[in-house]
Amino acid sequence: MNLLLTGGMGYIGSHTAVALTLAGHRVVLYDNLSNSAQVMAERLERITGVSPLFVSGDVRDTDRLCHTLRHHAIETVIHFAGLKVVGESLEIPLDYYANNVQGSISLLQAMHVAGTRALVFSSSANVYGEPRYLPVDECHPTGVTNPYGRTKLHVEEILHDLARSDPAWRIVCLRYFNPVGAHESGLIGEHPQGLPNNLMPYIARVATGELAELQVFGNDYPTPDGTGVRDFIHVMDLAEGHACAVAYLNAHPGWQVINLGTGQGYSVLEMIRAFEVASGRPVPYRIAPRRPGDSASCYANPEKAHRLLNWTARRTLAQMCATTWAFQSGMGTEGPA
Ligand code: NAD
Ligand code: UDP
Repeated sequence: MNLLLTGGMGYIGSHTAVALTLAGHRVVLYDNLSNSAQVMAERLERITGVSPLFVSGDVRDTDRLCHTLRHHAIETVIHFAGLKVVGESLEIPLDYYANNVQGSISLLQAMHVAGTRALVFSSSANVYGEPRYLPVDECHPTGVTNPYGRTKLHVEEILHDLARSDPAWRIVCLRYFNPVGAHESGLIGEHPQGLPNNLMPYIARVATGELAELQVFGNDYPTPDGTGVRDFIHVMDLAEGHACAVAYLNAHPGWQVINLGTGQGYSVLEMIRAFEVASGRPVPYRIAPRRPGDSASCYANPEKAHRLLNWTARRTLAQMCATTWAFQSGMGTEGPA
């Protein structure tokens, strides 16, 4: 199948490109490289043996998208492109609405004109807000608390309206929990620019010695060890979830939201310990105040993904840490991707 991956040069998009290419699909990566680098294309070729088709472009450029969809006879789009940092979205909300909401509308207009009606959308567990019960299933009420989450919910709702308006549309919104880890080759992974906001990339850079210590945001939560608990999911499991969503779309019109998580929560201290074992390096930390807006615990009920997509996360916490370390520690010779 011919697939367009907007934001396909980024962290989750690139891993998904690997999974789809190895499954025999032909992928076109459409990206403005605002948070990725051209070198990704070579890395993907080294992993898959197939040179990826890359189109440099912004998702707000409707004409360019339309041309790309037609030129490559695209049957399904996976829409990763967007901005993703919660804290930043509070500072520059307009950029978030422009990239994430306007960008999605532009993509949908291009798809409408080009006649492509199948879409997988990268949504987030962020749309649930503070969990009211655990594990979080798709019936859990939404409760966004920041502009980033609102952009995701707005786009989900736009997609729902679109699917209601025209039965030809086939749409799956995937609500990711906490993607971590890297491809087992160590060639591609997550390399945030500047100081990492998320736990795993921060731990990885403390383990290399680049950063002195990790701040653990709060140890007085109502969790077994007092630190926050999250549903960390290996990015290659997530990538395979997209391949399953593409297969599902083939046969199912309409609109669905589906969680992609493991169903298992790990605490911040458990993550630190697992990373120390995987890397053989110490991860110094100190307890700091809670981070505003953080919830104590959040993990998925992944049953719907199993039922509809026949997908279950398989990789362990040890694999999440080992692949992160392989990528992070190999970066001196390889450079970031
Ligand atoms: P990423 O920043 O690594 O990848 C996003 C890619 O989109 C980048 O390559 C960037 O250059 C590109 N891009 C951004 N704006 C663009 C635009 N206007 N036009 C074209 N390309 C553009 O992020 P990621 O972690 O791979 O996330 C992918 C998607 O998954 C995002 O939509 C994100 O909100 C969502 N998501 C991510 C996480 C996570 O923890 N990583 C969790 C939940 C949801
Ligand atoms: N966290 C932490 N120190 C950090 C970054 C994160 O203690 O430097 C904690 C955070 O408070 C939360 C967990 O790690 O309990 C996961 O945070 P992350 O930002 O990775 O994901 P999110 O909060 O968006 O689920």
